[in-house]
Amino acid sequence: MQVQQLQQLLEFDREGMIEFAKGLGEKPFRATQLFRWIHQRGMTDFEHMSDLAKSLREKLSTTAFVQPLSLISEHRAKDGVIKWLFDVGQSNAIETVYIPESDRGTLCISSQAGCAVGCTFCSTGYQGFSRNLTTAEIIAQLWFAEHTLRKSPEYNARENRIITNVVMMGMGEPLQNYTHLVPALKIMLDDHAYGLSRRRTTVSTSGVVPMIERLGLDAPVALALSLHAPTDALRDELVPLNRKYPIAEVLDACKGYLRYAPRDFVTLEYCLLDGVNDQEVHINALVDLLKPSKGPGFPCKINLIPFNPFKESGLKRSSNAQIKRFSDALLDAGLVCTVRKTRGEDIDAACGQLAGDIQDRTSISERRAKVIPIVSPLS
Ligand code: SAH
Ligand code: SF4
Repeated sequence: MQVQQLQQLLEFDREGMIEFAKGLGEKPFRATQLFRWIHQRGMTDFEHMSDLAKSLREKLSTTAFVQPLSLISEHRAKDGVIKWLFDVGQSNAIETVYIPESDRGTLCISSQAGCAVGCTFCSTGYQGFSRNLTTAEIIAQLWFAEHTLRKSPEYNARENRIITNVVMMGMGEPLQNYTHLVPALKIMLDDHAYGLSRRRTTVSTSGVVPMIERLGLDAPVALALSLHAPTDALRDELVPLNRKYPIAEVLDACKGYLRYAPRDFVTLEYCLLDGVNDQEVHINALVDLLKPSKGPGFPCKINLIPFNPFKESGLKRSSNAQIKRFSDALLDAGLVCTVRKTRGEDIDAACGQLAGDIQDRTSISERRAKVIPIVSPLS
């Protein structure tokens, strides 16, 4: 006898759900009802989906399931930030972070168990790479946060929606997990699921050029590029993917992206590392690269991120005075620039501190141990 595999329904965007329902002999609107039960009501048990016909509920119970992530731990920081650690099997754990602010609630979502890019200033990069997350594992982070926070009296009392923004800035390089990312983004934006605004859903990338263009076609959400250096020589060291896709190509891809997302801008992230990329010479080079008169030719905002240290990196955060000098110089040059507030530091939930346990299948950590730390400010 052939054993039928059950289908995890968190895998599907609405189109996928409609196809699945079709296979059960059901109309598209039934798929939409099911989709709403799962994502809007947080329901996993078909028996309780009261407006679905009994016959459909029975079919579902023998063909499908809704399986949330399994929670390992929850940490709450003094500033209200919450970090969840989830078990995704085979000794891999991923992290999701909720950042409440007075006018918004941002969820920072992971896209991979580990990351293969291996940036020198990123704790996830140090962990190495295990595997891509599935669409279900990506969207299950939002599912969990939304329905858990809704039950918490502290957040439920908020006038605004609890999660207004999603940033793909957790563990992993989202554009190296494109196939699973896109349906997850579609679910986030779908009015029958989370109904997030396209401009409040951000994909952050270290610069996977071909996928930037495709994202514009498939799901033109807000784009953030992790720039971190004004020259290829330095960026090659900090963001190794630069050796494949250098700065000029990446900026060109960003410019092209805005064709699909008109009236938007691209955020350029720049993590300030003491003595490495924060000196006068870097400021001048960055201004030269981005200045409006020459510039990348597209609207952008520079987001300066104070480095969040972790011991293996051997790197230090720039002083507050240097961060101010850096941002003042960019503003004086007519560039738009903000400094990111660091949140959740006391629970290691800040940018780049996410390092759920990963079974490294790439030996990045071993190779890295042999790499000499960067010393020259601008080679
Ligand atoms: N892989 C994607 C998204 C995840 S990283 C990317 O690189 O864009 C999210 C952001 O955190 C990136 O801008 C990344 O450069 C930044 N980041 C990584 N490590 C950091 C650290 N230790 N301190 C501050 N920011 C860091
Ligand atoms: Fe990967 Fe982003 Fe970390 Fe670089 S900064 S190692 S791309 S998660």
